[in-house]
Amino acid sequence: MKFRPTKKISTFYPPQRTLMGPGPSDIHPRVLSALSRPTIGYLDPVFVAMMDELKAMLRYAFQTANEVTFPVSGPGSVGMEICFVNMVNPGDKVIVCRNGVFGGRMIENVERCQGVPVVVDDAWGEPVDPNKVEDAIKKNPDAKILAFVHAETSTGVLSDAKTLCEIAHRYGLMTIVDTVTSLGGVPVKVDEWGIDACYSASQKCLSCTPGLSPVTFSDRVVEMVKKREEKVHSWFLDLSLLLTYWGNTTRTYHHTAPTNSLYALHEALLMLQEEGLERAWARHRRNHLALKAGLETFGLEFLVKPEYRLPQMNAVKVLPGVDEAEVRRRLLHDYNLELGAGLGDLKGKIWRFGIMGYSCKMENVMLCLCALETVFA
Ligand code: PLP
Repeated sequence: MKFRPTKKISTFYPPQRTLMGPGPSDIHPRVLSALSRPTIGYLDPVFVAMMDELKAMLRYAFQTANEVTFPVSGPGSVGMEICFVNMVNPGDKVIVCRNGVFGGRMIENVERCQGVPVVVDDAWGEPVDPNKVEDAIKKNPDAKILAFVHAETSTGVLSDAKTLCEIAHRYGLMTIVDTVTSLGGVPVKVDEWGIDACYSASQKCLSCTPGLSPVTFSDRVVEMVKKREEKVHSWFLDLSLLLTYWGNTTRTYHHTAPTNSLYALHEALLMLQEEGLERAWARHRRNHLALKAGLETFGLEFLVKPEYRLPQMNAVKVLPGVDEAEVRRRLLHDYNLELGAGLGDLKGKIWRFGIMGYSCKMENVMLCLCALETVFA
């Protein structure tokens, strides 16, 4: 038969790594075991009941009463796209904050929706500056949306989402907030902060398999999307169509939902609920402080000032004269430990130590510090 591979291929068994990079994070055996349960139909009444529980647990994670809260089938980038493609019409002005890689991707999204991005730049490693945002809004009174990344994974910086949303609302703008790296690791309060559209991802502090993007939309957004004159420029991500499956009134076929991945997310969210959000945030903070204390004994310096540091994403500057890539290679080879490298302008200049979700535990911090001790020796 044609095209049969000539190389002998056998079952793929990945090594058991410890994931301390920018995501994915380690996955708890409970979540992995949920994945292997029998696949059932995406309209099976038992599955449909599970979907309602999933939505309720996502509302808890996002701290919102938003009716429209569900996991989109696709990674965090799809969560980003669903927000822009539904909310931005051709010609719409969007204030976009860029202080790292992912703000840059938001600009791309606005352009691809034929919107007009007004970019507010801050240095990589700095949070979004609320004064600059307010100036940009004053200079662009016709702007409709403010978009920013809450937790910039490329630099490990946390921006003040509450203040930024408050400014946006004072001037009548809607908000799109990226909480891919923040959800589950630091407070995200969608209703209290008045976020209109918020997306995250399954593989960071929720510690589920990659490939799902929890999203939540305020009633204002849902109304706005309903009133659109032009069709949404993506069939798959058209919110109104997706709600024929994820909404409350109907459950009809939209696309074949990734059932087993959704069991896994259900289990990951259940574990978050059992621990409690406050305790999860405190665990990230505690382990960050331990990791920081250890890293500083090697003379490593953080990229971000202490007041803006993300506990779950620790970016430190590479030591002078040290081969950045070789350190990561040895940690992976000798200790099965994955660290993150710098992206864009920070390539070769920083290491990124992620302690997200199930990866955020003291034994990982100790493993990492002991492994570094031998690599730096
Ligand atoms: N936004 C942020 C802040 C991220 O860190 C990432 C991924 O790391 C994304 C968006 C894109 O998510 P994904 O890689 O799951 O598509």
